Amino acid sequence: MKTKPLFIVMSAPSGCGKSTLIDMLLQEYGDIVYSISCTTRAPRGEEEDGLDYHFLSRARFEELIGADAFIEYAKVHGNYYGTLKAPIEEVLAEGHSMILDIDVQGAAKVRDYVQKLPNNDPLKIGYVDVFILPPSMEELRRRLEGRGTDAPAVIEKRLANAEGEIARADEYMFKVTNDDLTMAYKRLCDLIDALSGRM
Ligand code: 5GP
Repeated sequence: MKTKPLFIVMSAPSGCGKSTLIDMLLQEYGDIVYSISCTTRAPRGEEEDGLDYHFLSRARFEELIGADAFIEYAKVHGNYYGTLKAPIEEVLAEGHSMILDIDVQGAAKVRDYVQKLPNNDPLKIGYVDVFILPPSMEELRRRLEGRGTDAPAVIEKRLANAEGEIARADEYMFKVTNDDLTMAYKRLCDLIDALSGRM
């Protein structure tokens, strides 16, 4: 079945199940490609170049900035992070969809970029952004504490960040509350199917 290629931008505070939902989508939809970011930070642990990130030297990253190769980039903790335009354009031109997992600030830059594109640009035609919400701040706290991976101070910082991000959820075209993973996933699938004309 021929479907409309989507350019999906997804954001969520940490602990909202965004990575799990994206993994589920990638498993089920063979035609959705995950956007791999570029970074100048060093690989950690088992991370692989071209899989987790494209690990670039600072000089190469700055060269790409100069060439206007990024749809958005940012400096986080002294390292550059960015999303290249070319892979998104190529994936959409092939008729597939691209999904970006990006924070609220990055998403705002992508939205600005897309808004300025001509109306017949595939990135603009296929653009959709989704914010994943926790059922409540109390539940988000329970989930972060339940993971047992973060120190209390880190959890407080994540919760404070989450509040700031949730305050900007209205900037997104769609909001999906992850109260129940199966239900949230179904809502996401219904959204993607409707927008891509799969149904
Ligand atoms: P980490 O080094 O832990 O993998 O990521 C650090 C931060 O960089 C995270 O907050 C992550 O969201 C952000 N990040 C990862 N990729 C990108 C990207 O392509 N663009 C922007 N703006 N931020 C990114």
